[in-house]
Amino acid sequence: MTTANLLDFDLEGLAAFCERLGEKRFRATQLFRWVHQRGASDFAQMTDLAKSLREKLATTARVEALPVITQHESADGTIKWLFDVGDGNAVEAVFIPEDDRGTLCVSSQAGCAVGCRFCSTGHQGFSRNLTTGEITAQLWFAEHFLRKHLGRAERVISNVVMMGMGEPLQNYAALVPALRTMLDDNAYGLSRRRVTVSTSGVVPMIDRLGGDCPVALAVSLHAPNDALRDDLVPLNRKYPIAELLEACKRYLAHAPRDFITFEYCMLDGVNDQPEHARQLLELVRSSGVSCKFNLIPFNPFPASGLLRSPQPRVLAFAKVLSEAGIVTTVR
Ligand code: SF4
Repeated sequence: MTTANLLDFDLEGLAAFCERLGEKRFRATQLFRWVHQRGASDFAQMTDLAKSLREKLATTARVEALPVITQHESADGTIKWLFDVGDGNAVEAVFIPEDDRGTLCVSSQAGCAVGCRFCSTGHQGFSRNLTTGEITAQLWFAEHFLRKHLGRAERVISNVVMMGMGEPLQNYAALVPALRTMLDDNAYGLSRRRVTVSTSGVVPMIDRLGGDCPVALAVSLHAPNDALRDDLVPLNRKYPIAELLEACKRYLAHAPRDFITFEYCMLDGVNDQPEHARQLLELVRSSGVSCKFNLIPFNPFPASGLLRSPQPRVLAFAKVLSEAGIVTTVR
C-alpha cells in the first residue's frame, strides 16, 4: 500500500488527512509540530499521540527525507547539499550563515525550463517539478541537521530564499503549501518578510502569489530593455518588462515588504555598461516600482559564452544606481 508523505502537507492538508483517519484537528497540529519543530520521522517517538493513532500512521503515512548525495562545508560555514530526487536527478540547497541570520536557499524544480543564458541550470534543461514534500524536505532536513551540527536547541534557519534550481512560479501548486509550512507557527514560524520567492517574471503567477500567500518577492531582471532581456531571459518574450513591472506594482499592494528586489547578474560587455545603468534608472523611475537592486557576480561556465564583469565596472554600475537613491548591494 502506498503511504502519504507527511512533508507533502501544509497544516490544512494534514488536518484533512487526519480527518480521513477519523482524527480531530488538534491531532494534526500535534503531528505537524512533531515533524517540523522536532524533526521526528518515527511515529513511535511521538509519545503524546494516542497509541491507536501512532499505529494508524505506521501503516498509512511516512516522513520522507531526500537522500543526500554530497555535503560540502566551506570555511565560512556555508553548507551545500546535493539531494537525490530520483531518475538521475539532483537538486541543491545551500545554507548561508551570517551574523544576524541563517539563510537557506531552496530548489523548486529539477532543472528549469526558462533557459536563462547565464544559468547553468537553464542550460541543463527541465526534468520535472519537485513535489511539495521535496521542497519542504530541504528545509526539514537542513534545519534539524544544523541544530545537531551546531549544537543549538533553537531555530537555526531564519530566512528562506526560493532561489535554488528551478523557476518556483512554474511549480506553483507545489510551492504554495511548502511556503505555508515555512510560515506556520506550528512548523518553522518564519516571518513573511524572511521568505523570498525569486522569479524570472511569470506575470500571472506573481498576481496569484499576491492573493494566495504574499511573501517577499525578488525578480530576476538582468537587463534594462526588452531586446537584451529577450536574449538573456527568454521568458521575457512572453511577459515583457513593462508587463512585469506592472505586476510588481500590483504585488506591492500585498507584499510584506514595501519594495521588490531586482536581481541583476553582471555580464562582461553585455549588460554592465553605464548606459545600461542609466536605462535601468529610467525604467524603475517611470514604472514607480519601489525597489532595491542586488548585483550578482556571474559564475562563468563554458557553454554560456559569457564572462564575469570586472569588479571596477560592477562598482561603477552600483554607484550610478545608489547615487540616484536606489539601495544597491553587490553580492
Ligand atoms: Fe536558471 Fe532561474 Fe533562469 Fe531557471 S529561471 S534558467 S533557474 S536563472
